[in-house]
This record gives sequence, C-alpha cells and structure tokens, in this order.
Amino acid sequence: MRMNAWRIYQSADVLSITYASLTVMRTADRLRYVDGRPLTLSADPGKRVYGERLVNIDGLEYREWSPNRSKLSAYLCSGGECFPFNEKSSVLYLGAASGTTASHISDVAVSGKVYCIEISQRSFRDLVNVCESRKNMMPILGDAAVPEGYGFAAENVDVVYQDVAQKGQADMLADNMEHFSARYGMVAVKARSEDVTARPERIFEKAKERLTERGMKILDVRSLEPFEKAHAMIAVEAVR
Ligand code: SAM
Repeated sequence: MRMNAWRIYQSADVLSITYASLTVMRTADRLRYVDGRPLTLSADPGKRVYGERLVNIDGLEYREWSPNRSKLSAYLCSGGECFPFNEKSSVLYLGAASGTTASHISDVAVSGKVYCIEISQRSFRDLVNVCESRKNMMPILGDAAVPEGYGFAAENVDVVYQDVAQKGQADMLADNMEHFSARYGMVAVKARSEDVTARPERIFEKAKERLTERGMKILDVRSLEPFEKAHAMIAVEAVR
C-alpha cells in the first residue's frame, strides 16, 4: 500500500488519501524508504547531524533516519502513515533538543520553515550549530508551555510537532496549534511524564480524549514500541 500511494500521488504537495478509515499523508519526494527504513534527501549535503549514515541514491545524498534516535522515525518504522510535511511546510517544532529529528523535517520542508523551540540552554547550543548551515531551521530558546513567548519569532504554521516529555502534553499541543493556526499536529506522548503509576494505554487514551475535547480529529494513535518504551505518537487535524 505504501509503495502504491507513493507512486500514484507523488506529484501532489500534501497528499491526503483515505484508505478505509485511515488518513494517509505523503510528501512529494524527499522522504523515501529503503528496506522499510526511512531516509530523507539531505538539505545540507556532506554533513551528519548525529552520526547517521549518508546514502547516495541516483546521485543524490540521503540521510538515514534512525528509529532509535527519533520518535518520528520510530512512528514511520512502526507503520505510521500520517506525515503532514511537504517541501513548503511551515512547522513549529516543540522540544527540538539538539536538532536530530528537526533536521530530518528540515530536509523534507526544504522550501518551508522549521521553527525549533527548546528550553534547555545546553541543547540549544548544539541546536544553533545545526541551524547555522540549514537556512530553513530557526532556533528559538523558549518554553513551549508559553506560545506567547515566541509568537513574535514564528508566524502561523501548517504543522506543530511536539516531543517535550512533560506533563500536560495534549493541552500543550492544542494551545500551540490554536496560537499558530496549525491544521495538523503530532505529539510523541511519554506516558511516564504524565503519571508514573498509570498504565501507558490509559494515559494515551486520556491524551486522545483531551485532544478531541480541544477540537481535534484523531488521525492516528500508535505505540512506538519497541523503539521507545511507553510512548505513543498521536496525529491530529484541527477541526475549525
Ligand atoms: N525531539 C528531539 C529529537 O527527536 O531530536 C528530542 C526531544 S527530548 C525527548 C525533549 C526535549 O524537550 C529536551 O531537549 C527538553 O529540554 C525539551 N523541553 C522540555 N520541556 C520543554 C518546554 N517546556 N519547552 C521547550 N522545550 C522543552
């Protein structure tokens, strides 16, 4: 199914196809799979961000996207089909750390923008280094719980991607999607950050319920095991 969707719809900007109850979104051509593993076409050829392998395919340099280092890759490797990023996407990335996953999104959104919010000064220094040679990545030192704090630096976006590992992950996503009028959102929910005593499945269910209450249509909820223990990716679309 993945390969057919890829071939048939490869010319569209953002692809949204319904297979039974599943919404499938695909980028044009900057994300591809080799042996079931994702790679992105490098926007910064010759450079590695986290020691990833560089692969030459038909004269173009791709970067292997490790599911052990990135929850978005773990999601794709677990059969995740929601990928609301394309060449022109404007993306707000909450919890960018040193830019591992954000750099792959930057590869895909090569003509768009990736606003990278990070609260830790230490990670931020590494993030700035990655952003220096990628003209579509903007590092912003800020608290994702306070979108007003970086509203001046980021304009409205198409997608909010969140991986912050702190309590209240569903509301943080919804607040940022509202503030920046985003249509799509993806959040890597870490169960232990919400409640160490509760069953992860219950935490994911509650996050899903909360996002629905906040006006989101749930596109996918997917466990990231075995790559990430007690994590799930939730993909949503704002219903406005
Ligand atoms: N998303 C990164 C990647 O895949 O490359 C890894 C993110 S790491 C699991 C979580 C990051 O969120 C940490 O760097 C942490 O400093 C950051 N963080 C935690 N709370 C935050 C907040 N309120 N605002 C912004 N960043 C936050």
